[in-house]
Amino acid sequence: MYDCHAHLALPEFDRDRTEVLRRAREAGVEKIIVVAEDHADSLRVLNVCSRHHDMLLPCVGLHPDRFSEDEPAAPSREEIEAICDLARQQHPRLAAIGEVGLDYWRVKSEERRKMQRRCLRQMADLAAELDLPLNAHARSAGHHAIELLADCGARRVLMHAFDGRAGYAVEAARRFGWLFSIPPSVVRSRQKQKLARALPLAHLALESDSPVLGPDPSARNEPANLAVTVRCLADLKQTNPADLLRIIDCNTRNVFRSLSMSA
Ligand SMILES: [Zn+2]
Repeated sequence: MYDCHAHLALPEFDRDRTEVLRRAREAGVEKIIVVAEDHADSLRVLNVCSRHHDMLLPCVGLHPDRFSEDEPAAPSREEIEAICDLARQQHPRLAAIGEVGLDYWRVKSEERRKMQRRCLRQMADLAAELDLPLNAHARSAGHHAIELLADCGARRVLMHAFDGRAGYAVEAARRFGWLFSIPPSVVRSRQKQKLARALPLAHLALESDSPVLGPDPSARNEPANLAVTVRCLADLKQTNPADLLRIIDCNTRNVFRSLSMSA
């Protein structure tokens, strides 16, 4: 199985990353897609993934939270350009462009939201140019993110930890063929359970979003917890875990083509 979205390059995994990966492998996780939050993190992700290239596939991106009013300054055009240049340079080894998206929960002012949308369009164009999928985030902005990406003509999209209405997700899955990844927090989140129940199996994927969204909110999450998600999803979809995983793995390889190349 594949973890489609994890922040494993963060310093909180520096101490025991090898152990975390060993536990993931023991739980049945073959590959992990590591997302990046800004230019510095993109460099860190590339570096960490080259040290663990048997399991980790890198993304380059800019997290929408970076546009929050709590940050000292919004990302400059120069930083966004540097991220695009890095992606162009590294694209043969990238799994996706991400993490990118819209977050209207953290970003309140219309001015900053406009910058987020402009950046997301630029990232969607970049993904199209490099023929890469998008690893996307939408918080309190599900409908807006779907409309914007649809308007950009985005074809291969993973929406991670989607918190919008399940009806929007189902419509986007049917109209555009996108995937929605379910995190281990599904065991305690009624919203995620509802989303997983509503989406057809052909549009589901797995993510850990490590270090957050674990089964226990007080503990650091890690990819091995995907096993918990699989059990919960098998229950929700009333199917057996082996059949569920076969479909989910196939969905995931269709969107993230580098998984097949590196298999
Ligand atoms: Zn994330």
